[in-house]
Amino acid sequence: MQFDSLGLKPELLRAVGEQGYTQPTPVQQKAIPVVLEGHDLMASAQTGTGKTAAFTLPLLQKLSERRAGHPRPRALILTPTRELAAQVHENLRAYGRHLNLKSLEIFGGVNINPQITKLKRGIDVVIATPGRLIDHMERGTVRLDAIETLILDEADRMLDMGFRPAIERIVKALPKQRQTLLFSATFSKEITEMASRYLNDPMRVETAPPNSTVEAIAQQAVRVDQKKKRSLLSWMIGSNDWRQVLVFTRTKHGANRLAKQLETDGLPAAAIHGNKSQGARTRALGDFKKNRIRVLVATDIAARGLDIDQLPHVVNYDIPNVPEDYVHRIGRTGRAGRDGLAVSLVSGAEHGLFEDIRKLVKVEIPTETMDGYEPTEPVSKGSPKSPARRSRGGGGGRGNRNGQKVSAQNRSGRGRQRGRGQGQRRAA
Ligand code: AMP
Repeated sequence: MQFDSLGLKPELLRAVGEQGYTQPTPVQQKAIPVVLEGHDLMASAQTGTGKTAAFTLPLLQKLSERRAGHPRPRALILTPTRELAAQVHENLRAYGRHLNLKSLEIFGGVNINPQITKLKRGIDVVIATPGRLIDHMERGTVRLDAIETLILDEADRMLDMGFRPAIERIVKALPKQRQTLLFSATFSKEITEMASRYLNDPMRVETAPPNSTVEAIAQQAVRVDQKKKRSLLSWMIGSNDWRQVLVFTRTKHGANRLAKQLETDGLPAAAIHGNKSQGARTRALGDFKKNRIRVLVATDIAARGLDIDQLPHVVNYDIPNVPEDYVHRIGRTGRAGRDGLAVSLVSGAEHGLFEDIRKLVKVEIPTETMDGYEPTEPVSKGSPKSPARRSRGGGGGRGNRNGQKVSAQNRSGRGRQRGRGQGQRRAA
């Protein structure tokens, strides 16, 4: 299927062509006509599927068809994080470059005054995180009574982050007569319930089974002791000559510490997390995209919405507590059909957590150990969240239920070896 069969206007087709897209992705094929027809939509689409264009293109078309005679925003896109808001805005600007529509991103961590000035001048589309939007509502600096389209992007994550009451307040301030689109990686009970309240007879679009991981990504687990993870990571980056690696830690503190340690190992690195100023986050991301730093260490929340072209390597330095986060994390790589490698460093205590992930993603993730980094820690059988299960851990082998090697995992295993006899791959 081609883009020009979707009913999009020439200005949008031109912009899409300039982005280098040749074919609409499955979610775009299904969602664009539905949105153009004016239906409400509930779409399950994970990061990397092209979901942003799936809602942005028809939105821009509809806004450009009818000009507003007033300066109030006509469309509102809510996102969980600043980074995602900025990313959606970047896409919206690229797709709308041949249309004369005004858009504004609204999020915290930056001075509110320029946002107020721009809102006064007149804006068609607002892309906002819930907290800062509420701030504007309380100050009376944004009016939402002319909103025709509401888009909830990564709705599952917004709920995870506790934005439910904020969303409720925002939706109450919107006209009842509107089009509402909800995008979510998963359709949990909470999401379905939210959809039933905010959406009107929605069409459902499901492009991938919930929680499936993007196929282009090779996934691999390495069993290693917690205290050896740092040196193994440095070794893997160095010996494989990885140039752009996104590393996930569970805590902000852990992200800071690891970035410093990697620097000490001679690997230019930076950390991004919620405690960093917006300026520092933007700078770190910019340096990473321009290859000025090799490693970006991030917490889950900070990484949400990052879109880095052709990001080849993602490393789970800590295994996420919430299995769904694994899907989001590795969705950073291999985006829109490109290849990627996602490596998880699994300590003994994290064994149970990783087993939960295996069950969720339902694909085989081969487990390896590396020479010189053989695990010695006891293996926990259950999730560390449950002390009773954890205390039963110990012994129990080396988590080798997926002992076989898969060729894909070795595609980046070439390159310079440091020749210290460590880190040779070995199937566990
Ligand atoms: P998203 O899932 O919206 O975060 O998009 C993931 C990536 O896919 C972004 O880098 C987009 O620029 C890219 N993309 C979106 N649509 C297409 C398409 N039809 N063909 C190729 N790449 C696309």
